[in-house]
Amino acid sequence: MDRDYRIGLNESIFRDVNEQLEELADQFRPSDGELDLICECGNTDCEQRITVRRSDYERIRSDSRQFIVVPGHETEDIEDVIEQTSGYDVVRKRAGAAAQAAEENDLRAD
Ligand SMILES: [Zn+2]
Repeated sequence: MDRDYRIGLNESIFRDVNEQLEELADQFRPSDGELDLICECGNTDCEQRITVRRSDYERIRSDSRQFIVVPGHETEDIEDVIEQTSGYDVVRKRAGAAAQAAEENDLRAD
């Protein structure tokens, strides 16, 4: 499998986990609060947590190519940092295999 595609696929898997964490949070705290998510970087050994406001998470998730990572966890040759906060960075895949993987494996996309 192409390396870039694999990274995109790994990130998509973490994104799916975060989707489930959000769903769980919905059941216990239905209001707009903070979500305790995992870093969506391409490193499968990364287990760092990120706190994101639900409204920010929804905005970021509305684009299949965007992911939330711990600052510094971006993969520079396949994605750009488009937003920086104190707790996390938002990255967006450039066109290519990783972007393709991110879009093909987005559970929210039709
Ligand atoms: Zn990470």
